[in-house]
Amino acid sequence: MALFYNLCSSSSGNATYIGSRTEGLLFDAGAGIRNFSKWLALQGLGPEAVKGIFITHEHSDHVKGLKVIADRYHVPIYGSEGTLRRMLDTGRLTGEEDLHIIRRETVIGGFTVVAAPTSHDSPGSVCYRVETPDGGVAGVCTDLGYMSELILETLSGCGHILIESNYDEEMLRTGPYPRFLKERISSPSGHLSNSQCAEAVGKLLREGCRSFSLGHLSEHNNLPHLAEDTVTGYLQFMGLTAGKDYRLEVLPKTTGGKAVEF
Ligand SMILES: [Zn+2]
Ligand SMILES: [Zn+2]
Repeated sequence: MALFYNLCSSSSGNATYIGSRTEGLLFDAGAGIRNFSKWLALQGLGPEAVKGIFITHEHSDHVKGLKVIADRYHVPIYGSEGTLRRMLDTGRLTGEEDLHIIRRETVIGGFTVVAAPTSHDSPGSVCYRVETPDGGVAGVCTDLGYMSELILETLSGCGHILIESNYDEEMLRTGPYPRFLKERISSPSGHLSNSQCAEAVGKLLREGCRSFSLGHLSEHNNLPHLAEDTVTGYLQFMGLTAGKDYRLEVLPKTTGGKAVEF
């Protein structure tokens, strides 16, 4: 069994460890170095277990701890050319790090990582499928404008998927954000709403995926029970029952050591 361990998930920080108890990969590094070590330790993991950091895109909630963590623990960094280029151009990476441009498929140790582009408003933004050495398959799929056919195909058959359920449409519409930001978030290059997430989960269920963590919830435009009710309600309408036909949880901002085996 492989471990899917989300360290943090929200619009203020995202990081997920996938692997065994001795070696794994980190997907995004949106945690400070102290929290990174502290949260890994809650699962009995040391920083040396992280053999590579894969970045989905260069927004700060995904990379704010990246350079410090990679430098301190000598971890190679993997990202799309667009992501790494933007981070170098803006001085958040210097080029002295161990940088690797990902292809569609990247092999590191016994892990195979497959990337699919997302329509999010960041150059080279991607989501990932990861196959672990013991045969587990998981997906990390946040910051989507919409769920493309290629992403669905890439995530097909995953044992567990982190998918974003960023905002409740009514809360965003009536909430405090300025109009331009509301339009950005709800555009095809923004984020998935709870109902868009529900539709996406429905499609992933048809692709053989059965276990989901809803994550990257907006702190201003969403509530955990709204995300969960929207998705489970939609699936119930399709005749699918939580706990019987699929497994679903809503990630809190930090999971406090709780992990999923897949
Ligand atoms: Zn984000
Ligand atoms: Zn983003």
